[in-house]
Amino acid sequence: MVLAHAGHHLMFDAGFELPALVERLRAAGLHPWDIDDVVLSHGHRDHVAGAAAGAQVYGWRVWGALGTVWRWRALRDIPRLPFEPGASFAAGPWTVHTTGVPHDVDDAAAFLAVADGAPANADPALRVGYATDLGRAPDALVDLLRGASALVLESNHDRELLRTGPYPPDRQARVGGEHGHLSNDRAAAVLRAVAHPGLAQVVLAHISRHNNTPALALASARAALDVAGYEGALHAAPQDALLGPLDVAPLAAVGGPIAAGNGMTCAA
Ligand SMILES: [Zn+2]
Ligand SMILES: [Zn+2]
Repeated sequence: MVLAHAGHHLMFDAGFELPALVERLRAAGLHPWDIDDVVLSHGHRDHVAGAAAGAQVYGWRVWGALGTVWRWRALRDIPRLPFEPGASFAAGPWTVHTTGVPHDVDDAAAFLAVADGAPANADPALRVGYATDLGRAPDALVDLLRGASALVLESNHDRELLRTGPYPPDRQARVGGEHGHLSNDRAAAVLRAVAHPGLAQVVLAHISRHNNTPALALASARAALDVAGYEGALHAAPQDALLGPLDVAPLAAVGGPIAAGNGMTCAA
């Protein structure tokens, strides 16, 4: 996912080999050298595969926690910027707040990017949440995501489809476990907890091809958001195509006008 704001481009995760990633960026109307900062959620291939090469070829600044860098050896060979899950750091016009999430690697993290350095819980301007690859949502994550103006959230599997699907029992247990992936119903509970009048965009991400369908994920999220009185947009991120650009400004005007041209493109 790429956040474009104030002439700066921040990408959360880089999960394709560089040529495929560049192809997706170009399809989104971006040049690969437009990317300034890349923030990695964790060290699985589908989140880091193109990061080190992007740093070498295009000079991307790459942010990764120790567990991510340790797991993905290529990241040790590039200049990179470390963060501790739970800490915040500045990347261009964004303050990126991080929190640890339970997943089956060390130092997996989720994020809230807040434009122009506003505190995480101040009145919202541009506040974009990104949370994928987590077995469940800790309270600290739910608190962080409250007040987001846009949110990308994993909605990985339908519990029944996982139980009756093609995965062997041990893999079912991993995916559905506390350190696996967020089910549709757990994602719905997060959405119920964090929806507020300013939330403009919800993107469901990391939808399994084998244990879920976009329609099931959307229906589950829609039911939860309807209860919360949500009036923004709801999308299922496709695996093979781009989504966006989406306007991530809050729906409810809080904290003054929002500069034009802010957009979010799901390119990864
Ligand atoms: Zn993943
Ligand atoms: Zn993962």
